[in-house]
Parts: sequence; C-alpha cells; structure tokens
Amino acid sequence: MRKDVLVIAALTASLFAASLLPAQSIEISSAAERTSARGPETAYTGLAIAEFLFRAGEASDLTAGEISFEPGARTAWHNHPAGQYLIVTSGVGWVQARGGPKRLVRAGDVVWTPPGVFHWHGATATQGMRHLAVWRFVDGSGGELGEHVSDEEYLAEVEAADANE
Ligand code: MN
Repeated sequence: MRKDVLVIAALTASLFAASLLPAQSIEISSAAERTSARGPETAYTGLAIAEFLFRAGEASDLTAGEISFEPGARTAWHNHPAGQYLIVTSGVGWVQARGGPKRLVRAGDVVWTPPGVFHWHGATATQGMRHLAVWRFVDGSGGELGEHVSDEEYLAEVEAADANE
C-alpha cells in the first residue's frame, strides 16, 4: 500500500476512535480542589470571601465565582465588558448601577448588569448575602475597577418599591 494511503487510513481511524469517546472531553472539578480567598481591599470594602468555580482561559471566556459578603461588605464600583449575571443564593443584599437607585435583592433573585455599566453589589448593612457571579472576559479583561463605594452611597435609601427590609 502506498504511504499516503496509509496516512489517510490512520487519520480516518483516529478520527473514528475520537468520535467514539466523547466523554474524554468532559472535565470535572470537585469542590475539594477549589480554594477560597478574601477579596482584595482594592476591589472590596469589608469582608468578602470569593471562591472561583472556573476562570476564563482555554476552555471558554467565562468566569464564575461564588462570593459571600458579610454585613457591610460590598464591591467597589466596577464594570464588565460583556455584562454580568448575579444569582443570589442566600441572604439579602444591595445592588446599584451608576445613576440608578440602590435595589434590594434576596435569595433567588437574578441580576443582569449590561456591558460597560458601572455598578456595585454587596450585603446589606445588617444581613449577609451570597451570590454566584458569571461574566465573560473580552480581550483578556473581566472589567474595569473604579473607586470604593462610600458609606454615604452604601447607606442611601433603597428604591421605594423595594424598601421592605
Ligand atoms: Mn459586578
């Protein structure tokens, strides 16, 4: 058999074998493999603990983390180039977009912040909050970090419709 025919036969065989083994492409990371760390003071006020579930990289451009905010803790003002979903998993928190009202969120709420919109998220002053955060990196960036949320901004009245805490 000619050499080029052998090569084609070998390539066909390897492609066929790969198609029979799709499960080999699945990756599972267990909770035991992950670590959590305190959010840096440049990006947070107060005590926030973040555990990254996955990070933007070779597999995808998505990053996800679970962040626990102690009462009084919040992010600094920041944005995300492709927007961000927050899924509140426990507690009660506050979120605000630049120029908009402070909003109350509680377990089960899903928050979408559009691309480029400066915002912050965190616990209320008296109750902790935990959320999952999912966002896409663009050109290697997950967003821009701004100034800290001042106590005056943080303690502003919540929007009337949500003023039920
Ligand atoms: Mn955010």
